[in-house]
Amino acid sequence: MKPQWVLATNNLHKLEEVRAILEHKIDILSLSDIGCEANPIENGSTFSANAFIKAKEISLYTDLPVLADDSGLCVNALNGSPGVTSARYAGDNASDSENVIKLLSELSGTTDRSAYFTTSLCLLIPGSQPQFFEGFIHGAIAEVPSGSNGFGYDPVFIPAGGLNTFAEMTASEKNANSHRADALQQLFLKLFVS
Ligand code: IMP
Repeated sequence: MKPQWVLATNNLHKLEEVRAILEHKIDILSLSDIGCEANPIENGSTFSANAFIKAKEISLYTDLPVLADDSGLCVNALNGSPGVTSARYAGDNASDSENVIKLLSELSGTTDRSAYFTTSLCLLIPGSQPQFFEGFIHGAIAEVPSGSNGFGYDPVFIPAGGLNTFAEMTASEKNANSHRADALQQLFLKLFVS
């Protein structure tokens, strides 16, 4: 039987992506699977601080290992914004499309469209110190949104060396080299390959 971990997120897209990437090794439970309605306040100033806040809070509701993912988009011409505020770039409770519209408007007329996504993972195994893993993918912000798959800024992010946005890719194409997949690969190498 595979070990069970809880993923500390209410984002169903993240849940699907993490499940797809880890499915051969770990049985990933959602917050609703453990009857947890918590919604941790992500007020850290770094991705890893926010990942730790989420993992720690959810660990109060379970004895299973807890994995938390904090991710965001960093745009070079905007000095790294939206960064840790990616989810609320256009305001508290902003929708994905409102965030994308704000991003495109901030970048209007800008020739440097380079950007990267990053993921910080925090794994809290009961009785152990927290373990952190980071992943990245570099690319560029498109002039207009394209595609309807994925979530967040996927319709405007084109990974380096490609022509399509994440939102134009299938889930398995995105999961083959995304920031989240990169961080999970670091975790996999540390925990399962020695
Ligand atoms: P958080 O990690 O839940 O705080 O998410 C931050 C925000 O970053 C999300 O609401 C999305 O807007 C954005 N984001 C994180 N990961 C991705 C991704 O894989 N694709 C597109 N946007 C993402």
